[in-house]
Amino acid sequence: MLDVFFLGTGGIMPTRERNVPAIALRYGGEVLLFDVGEGTIRQMNTAKLSPMRIEKIFITHFHGDHYLGLAALIQTMNLWKRRRPLHIYGPERTIEFVQNFLSSGFFRSGFEVHVHEIGEVRLKFRGYEVWSFEVEHGVPALGYVFKENDRRGKFLPEKLAQYSLRPGPLLGRLEREGVLKINGREVHIEDVTGPRRKGVKVVYSGDTRPAERTALFARNADLLVHDATYLSPADRGESYHSTVEEACALAERADVKLLALFHRAFRYGYDEYASAASEICRSLGVEFLVPRDFDALTFGPKGRKLWRLVR
Ligand SMILES: [Zn+2]
Ligand SMILES: [Zn+2]
Repeated sequence: MLDVFFLGTGGIMPTRERNVPAIALRYGGEVLLFDVGEGTIRQMNTAKLSPMRIEKIFITHFHGDHYLGLAALIQTMNLWKRRRPLHIYGPERTIEFVQNFLSSGFFRSGFEVHVHEIGEVRLKFRGYEVWSFEVEHGVPALGYVFKENDRRGKFLPEKLAQYSLRPGPLLGRLEREGVLKINGREVHIEDVTGPRRKGVKVVYSGDTRPAERTALFARNADLLVHDATYLSPADRGESYHSTVEEACALAERADVKLLALFHRAFRYGYDEYASAASEICRSLGVEFLVPRDFDALTFGPKGRKLWRLVR
């Protein structure tokens, strides 16, 4: 089961209604944080999400709205006597920026902070992978894919019966090793299971103009969280951001199952933005969501559910 928490959904600067970007993914008891806008620690407190569960932080780029909450988050972890190391991933110059940040003031960390400067990589962890890809934002910037590992199909009772297999050590061995010999005959796990179950795929573009690279990495995603800062190209001007229409068109091209329109500019109120967005996305046939701070999505065995962390 995977939970996606929208902790800050606005872009550029916080408003009364929404904070700057931070998205937390909860998977298997661990919390992964994507971007840490200023005030993320408070958003986590309000949402009753423990920062102590964070193992890895992925920064898309070093504009203030995406990372200024990092020092406060690390200092708070330290106050709570964290001892486990923390891993921070980000684009070119991440080491320099994080070091500058952590060496300011009188603060000294009581735990190790490992900083990983990455380009386009595929990181393998227990049960999932994180892939990074380059986006177009005028400064070094990455988007990220969280991909849960695919799982084997369910055991099919009629197939198990054909091989006289029942729950027990023999079946356990087949599950571990993938193949067994029964009466001189090889049985592969695929012979007795249904189709493989696809792991959940969540993609976060960070700040970017619409980019083919994003469409490529977002193919068939269960959720794409995409920059949709502006409602019109006139509002966007020359900035390296996307409009709602561009985000929808990209989601449609990439066969994304659900698009979250993210990083809305502070000039738009929720209702104004959501009603304009719904007209645009509906005309393109894209299923979409305009998340508010503290909205959450759960991807579980029974499908997808939208709920709120704070009532
Ligand atoms: Zn931004
Ligand atoms: Zn930016």
